[in-house]
Amino acid sequence: MPDQQRIGVFGGTFDPIHIGHLVIAEILQFDLGLDTVLFLPAGRPPHKPEQELADDEHRLAMLEIAIGYFDQFEISTVDLDRSGNSYTARTLEILSAAYGESGDLYFLMGQDSLRDFPTWRNPDKIARLAKLGVALRPHVDVSIEAIEGAVPDARGRILMVDVPLIDVSSTAIRNSIRAGRPFRFQVPRGVANYIDANGLYK
Ligand code: ATP
Repeated sequence: MPDQQRIGVFGGTFDPIHIGHLVIAEILQFDLGLDTVLFLPAGRPPHKPEQELADDEHRLAMLEIAIGYFDQFEISTVDLDRSGNSYTARTLEILSAAYGESGDLYFLMGQDSLRDFPTWRNPDKIARLAKLGVALRPHVDVSIEAIEGAVPDARGRILMVDVPLIDVSSTAIRNSIRAGRPFRFQVPRGVANYIDANGLYK
């Protein structure tokens, strides 16, 4: 299908968005030949029910600051607009219906998410709806064979992409802020300013 768009769907809590997210999104986009990467901030993620999340409006504002100027990245609020838990399978179903035949979906994630993928709700369905574009992440070792064994529909649909290992996480950033330690250069400059101005993660 010559006019099919390749769409990367990059789900996360982005609490806050950091340079690890941005570096992997850019490289996944390039190496997988994606036309667009859709950043998809999660509502309350089912696997992080206990976590205190920053308000949706703050997470969204920081995403806009970080990627708003970059034409090839977009933000989808489809998960934030739905109430309740956001399950990836359902979200991909909505996106796949929206794009129809003209869209070829790639769900983007770091290796830690791939490791947990078999425990997500309906992983087979996710793998049928989207190929999985996976970026390396420090401290994680996961074999594609093990995932394909646990999720048969993922067979041949997991694309590992080499990225520079970036040992930054939202959890570590939130912890640093709480402890009064430096975090500024682990996020884009505007995001650091936004965190300061709104007193987030104290
Ligand atoms: P938290 O520490 O709150 O769990 P996080 O830093 O893992 O957050 P998320 O918003 O949960 O960020 O991540 C969204 C996606 O980005 C996930 O698939 C995750 O694996 C991936 N990711 C986040 N940071 C990195 C990184 N430094 N290297 C590779 N992948 C990453």
